[in-house]
Amino acid sequence: GQCVAVCPTGALVEHEYIWEVVEALANPDKVVIVQTAPAVRAALGEDLGVAPGTSVTGKMAAALRRLGFDHVFDTDFAADLTIMEEGSEFLDRLGKHLAGDTNVKLPILTSCCPGWVKFFEHQFPDMLDVPSTAKSPQQMFGAIAKTYYADLLGIPREKLVVVSVMPCLAKKYECARPEFSVNGNPDVDIVITTRELAKLVKRMNIDFAGLPDEDFDAPLGASTGAAPIFGVTGGVIEAALRTAYELATGETLKKVDFEDVRGMDGVKKAKVKVGDNELVIGVAHGLGNARELLNRVRAGETFHAIEVMACPGGCIGGGGQPYHHGDVELLKKRTQVLYAEDAGKPLRKSHENPYIIELYEKFLGKPLSERSHQLLHTHYFKRQRL
Ligand code: SF4
Repeated sequence: GQCVAVCPTGALVEHEYIWEVVEALANPDKVVIVQTAPAVRAALGEDLGVAPGTSVTGKMAAALRRLGFDHVFDTDFAADLTIMEEGSEFLDRLGKHLAGDTNVKLPILTSCCPGWVKFFEHQFPDMLDVPSTAKSPQQMFGAIAKTYYADLLGIPREKLVVVSVMPCLAKKYECARPEFSVNGNPDVDIVITTRELAKLVKRMNIDFAGLPDEDFDAPLGASTGAAPIFGVTGGVIEAALRTAYELATGETLKKVDFEDVRGMDGVKKAKVKVGDNELVIGVAHGLGNARELLNRVRAGETFHAIEVMACPGGCIGGGGQPYHHGDVELLKKRTQVLYAEDAGKPLRKSHENPYIIELYEKFLGKPLSERSHQLLHTHYFKRQRL
């Protein structure tokens, strides 16, 4: 029967899109590509006979290829891209702030979680110019796929179908926002959740646990260690700090692990030295904690950058994941999968991703360029009702 689950943001009712995916895959006139969010690989196995806490990144790529996707890509690529844009925006604002510009808005707030974006559009309409204008990784992926990648394939954007696998119910709403379409053609066509992918794999009789480990395809499948940690609370800001530090100081970061922003505390505060400056970082997961942190900002407490994720533990605890029922031990196991994936990567800073470097060289120019602004940045709206 139809599965109905309530979104953690309280705003959405789950709608399944498995058949839309099957139809697209069966359509010979379409090129169908898929992107998978970081958190999916940390939990998908739980619904498919693999022990919790096991990374299934390689099996997931193999399963998606068996399902018939033409190219198996990774939202992690777009997470690296998000860091390039958001990190540059942060440094730009910080530089102006340090130079005495009082118009510039700090702290910068992360904008990759649509549950959180919708929350501040409703609850903090006086602060709409404070969040980063960077689109979420899901939407950056779609925008690059339907321009740069469609061009590489030599096909019009209408021929390309972009499917996302997300840990998240709010992502279904996000991709439908009109500002993320071009002439009625959305950058991301279909979003299914981790649970829906597990169902699809089962219905297609794929023996998931028995699959070999396979890699993502190039170019939109390559990522650094900074990308998988987008799936956990503190991970986006840690990834941003790695890149912002090196871009700001021109020095190599000696220790890429920022332990102070990790962990399951509802609100975290950390001080990080970048050159001569000490940055104050805030991290909140869960919207109650986010509200508390924003009220502290309103009351005058200094922060330079704040990361918010709406779900417990971040996306690993998202509403589209295999049910976790608030089991903190299970959430910690999923978290460990992503930190292990980060630690195991040869490159761990987004600006070192060779395919991101190539994307800028061949297409975007540089972070915050005119084309980057057009494709990778957005704006926010005051909303009255849920
Ligand atoms: Fe979606 Fe939750 Fe992740 Fe936000 S924290 S992007 S609502 S899964």
